[in-house]
Amino acid sequence: MKDCIFCRIVAGEIPCTKVYETSNVLAFLDINPVIKGHTLVIPKEHVVNIMDIPDDLASELQQALRRIGNGLLQGLDADGFNLGMNNFESAGQLVMHAHYHLIPRYKGDGLKLWAQGSYESNEQMQDIAGKIKSAV
Ligand code: AMP
Ligand code: ZN
Repeated sequence: MKDCIFCRIVAGEIPCTKVYETSNVLAFLDINPVIKGHTLVIPKEHVVNIMDIPDDLASELQQALRRIGNGLLQGLDADGFNLGMNNFESAGQLVMHAHYHLIPRYKGDGLKLWAQGSYESNEQMQDIAGKIKSAV
């Protein structure tokens, strides 16, 4: 897609710091890492978010995520990694070409990704679960 920054990276029109590539998948360093080594894993095909990724491509992406996750553990001596994906603008998706974030983690690195809250009551929790269940 012409105006998509990640499609332009795939096409070689914009440089990236590549860490992994197959015929359908590309992984490169995020230019503004949460932690150094923060890697973006994308399908080469332009799809907007997880809802549009065909199952066979999702399976290839999953394989790539595990391989790169291993790369963070072995190559950067990470103790773990976070896997994240922002879907839709309201969830913080800035680039509308589907991508996974892989963030290396180290014991005591102090990064807190989720601010957690609580339900007002068990009834509220059950009500919310019911709404999700009926729409799945
Ligand atoms: P998101 O908010 O999930 O859409 O994340 C988009 C990510 O793309 C951000 O973490 C940016 O730092 C990253 N990003 C944007 N442009 C580039 C680029 N040219 N090369 C590498 N990473 C980029
Ligand atoms: Zn694109």
